Parts: sequence; C-alpha cells; structure tokens
Amino acid sequence: MQSDALLLAALLATAVGAAPLAERAAQAPARPAAAANPKLDAWKKEAVNDVDSQAVFAQQMVDQIFSYGELGFQEMETNRYLIDILRKNGFEVEAGIAGIPTAFMATWGSGKPIIALGSDIDCIPQASQKPGVAYHDPIVEGAPGHGEGHNSGLPLQIVAAISVKKIMAREHLPGTIRIWTGTAEELVGSKAYFIRAGLFKDADIALFVHVGENLGVSWGAGAGTGLVSVQYSFVGETAHAAAAPWRGRSALDAVELMDIGWQFRREHLRLSQRSHDVITDGGDQPNVVPRTASVWYYFRETDYEHIKELWATGDTMAKAAAMMADVELKQEQVLGAAWPQHFNKVVAETTWANIQQVGLPKWSDEDQQLARAIQKELKNPKAEGLSVKLPEKLQGPVEHNDGGGSDDIGDISWNVPTVTLRYPSNIPGLPGHNWANAIAMATPIAHKGVIAGAKVQAMTILDLVTRPELVEQAWAYFREVQTKETKYVPLIRPQDRPAIWLNKNTMEKYRAEMKKYYYDPSRYKTYLDQLGIKYPTVRTSSTP
Ligand SMILES: [Zn+2]
Repeated sequence: MQSDALLLAALLATAVGAAPLAERAAQAPARPAAAANPKLDAWKKEAVNDVDSQAVFAQQMVDQIFSYGELGFQEMETNRYLIDILRKNGFEVEAGIAGIPTAFMATWGSGKPIIALGSDIDCIPQASQKPGVAYHDPIVEGAPGHGEGHNSGLPLQIVAAISVKKIMAREHLPGTIRIWTGTAEELVGSKAYFIRAGLFKDADIALFVHVGENLGVSWGAGAGTGLVSVQYSFVGETAHAAAAPWRGRSALDAVELMDIGWQFRREHLRLSQRSHDVITDGGDQPNVVPRTASVWYYFRETDYEHIKELWATGDTMAKAAAMMADVELKQEQVLGAAWPQHFNKVVAETTWANIQQVGLPKWSDEDQQLARAIQKELKNPKAEGLSVKLPEKLQGPVEHNDGGGSDDIGDISWNVPTVTLRYPSNIPGLPGHNWANAIAMATPIAHKGVIAGAKVQAMTILDLVTRPELVEQAWAYFREVQTKETKYVPLIRPQDRPAIWLNKNTMEKYRAEMKKYYYDPSRYKTYLDQLGIKYPTVRTSSTP
C-alpha cells in the first residue's frame, strides 16, 4: 500500500503538476493552485447561510418522501413530487430516462463543468416504522418503509444546488448542475442502464450522497462488493402429487437442489464473496407437482472477474439442478448489477476539506435519547448515541476487502470521477435494511444531518465550478491511476433490460393503506406532528 501511495503521488505530480504548470502559471500568474481565494470563501459562506435558510424546505422534502415509502421501480409519488420541485426551481427535467419510468435527469445552467448530483430514492420491504419511536411500531404492518434512509439524499442535493445556483446565476459562472435519481438502488437496478444510455458521457464529476452516521468521504477502492442479480426459472410438469407423482417433474425440486448445491459449494468460495437468494416462485399448492419455480440470487464479489466467476458457478448449479430434477432451465434473467465502487482522490480531498469546516450538527438531548434508546432496544453492547466527532481522517483505499454491501454507483464511479458523501442523518450501530434504520429518518436527526451534508455539498460544487484545475486533476487520477489497468466492462448483457416490473404487486397491495399517512405539510409542521408522535417515544414499563 505504501508504494502505491508513492506511485500515486508521483503520477499526480506529473499528470497535473510539472508539465502543464508552466502553462497554467502563464495564464493565471497571480494565483498558485492552493492560494487563498477570498471570493470563493465569501461565496461558500453565502451558500452555507442559504442552506440554513432552507431548513424548513429540507425538512418538508425529507418527511414527504419518508411518508411515500416506495419500493424500487415503483417510486411514482416520489418522482412526481421531486420533478415538480425541480421544475419550480428552474430545472429542465427529462423523466423516464434509460427506459425507467421512475428515473429522471434534471438540468440547470450551461457550459462546463457538468456536475451530476445523485442519490437513491427507494425503500425497503417490511420496514414501515413510526419515526421517533425507539421500538418496532409500524405505520402500516407489513408495508415497505425507509429502513435505509433513501428519503434524505435528494433533498440534500436539491438544497445544495439551489443555494449554489443563486450564486452562479448572479456571478455569471459557467457550469451545469444535474440532479438524478438512484432509482431502485436496493435492486441495483438502474445505474448500469444510465451508463449504457450514455447519460453520464459528458459529465465532468459525479457527486453522490448516501445517508450515514457521520460526515465522511473516501477515495480509492473501498470495502464492499459489486454484484449480479440473477433469477433462475425452471419448468417441469404437473401431476397429482399423491395419485401419480411419478408422472410429474417438480420445478421446485430444481430450486431446492440448486440451493442445497450452493450451500455445499459456499465452503469452497473466497471469503470475500457474499451470496443470498429468495424463492420467488415455489409452486402453487402441495397436491399439484410444481410445474414452475424460480429462485433469485445476488452474487457478490470484490472485483469484476470474481463476480463473473461466481455467476458462472451459479449457472453450473442451476444446470446441474435442472438435470437432477429432470426439468427445463429457462433463459436466466439478469435483474440488476453493480460494479464495485472506486472513488476519486481529488474530489474526496476537496470534499473532506469542506467537511472539516462544516462539522457535525448540534444534537439535542431528545436526539441523543432516541439514539440511545434504540441502541439499547437492539441490545447493542454500548448505547453510545449519535456521532459527536468527525472521522479522524479522510479514508483511503482499504487494505483487505472482506466484502460487504454494494451500490450501483460503482458503475458510475468507473465512468466519471465520483465520490459518495456520507452525512449524519441516521443512528450508529443499526442492522441496516430494517425498521430500526427508519426511526431517525423523519426526525430532527435526519433533518439536521441533511443540512450539514448540503453545506458540504454546496461548498464542494463551488470549488469544482470555480477551480477548473480540480476537475483536471480529478480526471488525471481517473485516467492515470484508477482506470490504468482496470477497464469498465458492463455486467449487464446487451439483451438485458431494466426490471421495472419488480415490486409492482407489493406496492399495489399496500399503497391504498399507506396513502392515508402521506405527509400533508399544508396542515402539519412536521410528519411527527401529523402522526401525533411525542419526540422521542422510548420504551417504558407499560410499552407492550
Ligand atoms: Zn442505500
């Protein structure tokens, strides 16, 4: 790792330093790269104040999207709502991008640089939860909910963009701001298709945000995985399961045999892999030999080659299972894909400097009380509450990647210099993809975290718009370091299409009931007010 760092320093020095330095010095003799820039500092200050002045607007957006609680590819209300806000704020919006009805790309401004601001918008099955309540208490039993906090990211980006574009317009600064949806991120369902559709072809920098428990950013290859999401379907023959079972061939047998085969094989896979499945069709009723059955796998690994290898092993298991059950294996369906993530060093350093200036929000006693109560509820060894200290340093590449989660921002990060800003809108020590992760997401914790993040983001956009050398350096890292040996090859195949039918039935099942609880900001100051929740509500001896 040490030698990599030195190599990188040398590369960056030659890429952006030595040769072009003389030219640049001639063009801008009065301003060395990192010199004080009082004008930029003043604009940053102005943007930060403007973000503060948008606190109510931010809170309303966060609460509104929380109340919609829409699963991937079914984010209709969320889309309609956000598109309306963006149009009112002077953005041109193209809806239905890349063949995905619930995805959009909004554009404001003109010229370079083109800064693409994105965040995910979908939620988690069975994560419905009353905000501000420190134990499991769903708004609608069984319904989806924002148990990942994706209701907060685009509000952050919108607030930051609005504050920056005021300054850009007044000062006639060239530059284009784009805002786009991370549609169906929980299915890693959209971003590879955005790339295939060429939507990031002319983008200079992608600034992504994701909810976290602190303000942070990283560069290089991080912990975590990329993946392919594949559904295998089998077709057999029905028969009376008691009178003539020998006449039938069970597709469910193939699914079960594939799963058993996979569990045995798991012992002999690399430690960094993650793989899991759900049975999406397990037959109709016990007395009819199942003619059809399907199983849906996520195959995760830490690099492209190993993802492909794991996928091929899955294919072998499926074929072998079909042979054992004497059923037909249909053409497999790719339902999503994500490259492992790699973030840009220059953009991360720029963001990190701004993080240190903004710092963490001031948490109230109520905020801390809620955080500690849910940490206790989940029997965490320590109930430490919310983060009160920034990370010690900018996080660089991980030395040993033991695997972990994925995000299809990975695909974008291999096409445009990208970073993910994490902002402190959630509580540390939660399981993820769970009702507990929804508790903070329509409370002052989420609202304050979004404001802190929007300040950092506004400052970073101003840096990129006013200091073209940063964009140049970011691309030097991208070309000379990140993609020097690793080239992006899409995991999705030419015949694959976005899986926009997913979650349709689930959303249809719950939407009517959920609608009763949509947030109405014309009548209630906050969603907590509307639901009549005392903040915070923590377990007492009388709580069931
Ligand atoms: Zn997420």
